[in-house]
Amino acid sequence: MQPDSSFDNALAALQDCLGRQGNFVVLTGAGVSKESGIPTFRDAQTGLWANYRAEDLATREGFLNNPQMVWDWYDFRRNKVWDAQPNPGHVALAKMEVLFSRFTLITQNIDNLHQRAGSKQVLELHGNIFRYKCLEQNHPVSLDLLENPDASPPTCPVCNSYVRPDVVWFGEMLPEIILSQAFDAASSADVMLIAGTSGVVQPAASIPAAAKEAGATVFEINPEMSALTSFMVDYFLQGTSGTILHQLLTALQANPRVKTL
Ligand code: NAD
Repeated sequence: MQPDSSFDNALAALQDCLGRQGNFVVLTGAGVSKESGIPTFRDAQTGLWANYRAEDLATREGFLNNPQMVWDWYDFRRNKVWDAQPNPGHVALAKMEVLFSRFTLITQNIDNLHQRAGSKQVLELHGNIFRYKCLEQNHPVSLDLLENPDASPPTCPVCNSYVRPDVVWFGEMLPEIILSQAFDAASSADVMLIAGTSGVVQPAASIPAAAKEAGATVFEINPEMSALTSFMVDYFLQGTSGTILHQLLTALQANPRVKTL
């Protein structure tokens, strides 16, 4: 299937959704944070970390083998994200949440940048790097309340197992409730917008298919075609999400219906 790549046609379809008070569902991936200077997982394996494998840094086994190395790796990434700012793509999505009466933002990102841009409802499929839990029993942990917060890693005050970032590592299940909310939203979507994802990490990559099967029109924003483009995308807007989401928002805000809201 050859997607339509006309911005004007895509905009008209979105205006239609807006006018009908349709259900707008968005799935984002690492690409939407690229313009904030956040490397993708593979990009991040440069410099100091070039000699490490993802399997050693983002799996339970890797953590058990070398807890300090994994803790330090996440500290490094957390500091990078903390210093970053949301980009115009994050901001545009936060503003779209207000325009559409039914809007769901689903993200694979763990960087909290959607929330910092002002998005209120975010379904975080892969967790959040600023939250912590313990390794063995998933007790939520606040580092501020620990006696040993500077240990790398510290230990859980309840069960004494190691504290780890509350993110989904390779080989782990996604949070069940969030995943089911994401599929529910997709299954009743009128519009599904995919931005900045390669569409290869499961089960997130199956969410757009659920929307498509339910009859949604699928839009994609990406500088390159993804694994999903030729299978299910109706409108492919080639380019960076910071630029294109901002352009879409500006055009939608000019819609006469929006002006009366
Ligand atoms: P991915 O790295 O597999 O793919 C990134 C996609 O973004 C690619 O298709 C690329 O062409 C596109 N892209 C690059 N620059 C872009 C831009 N400026 N605008 C729009 N698109 C752009 O990312 P993924 O599909 O999200 O899957 C990778 C996994 O890595 C996910 O599980 C995610 O949780 C994790 N991850 C998250 C972060 C983060 O939180 N910021 C960073 C790295 C990795």
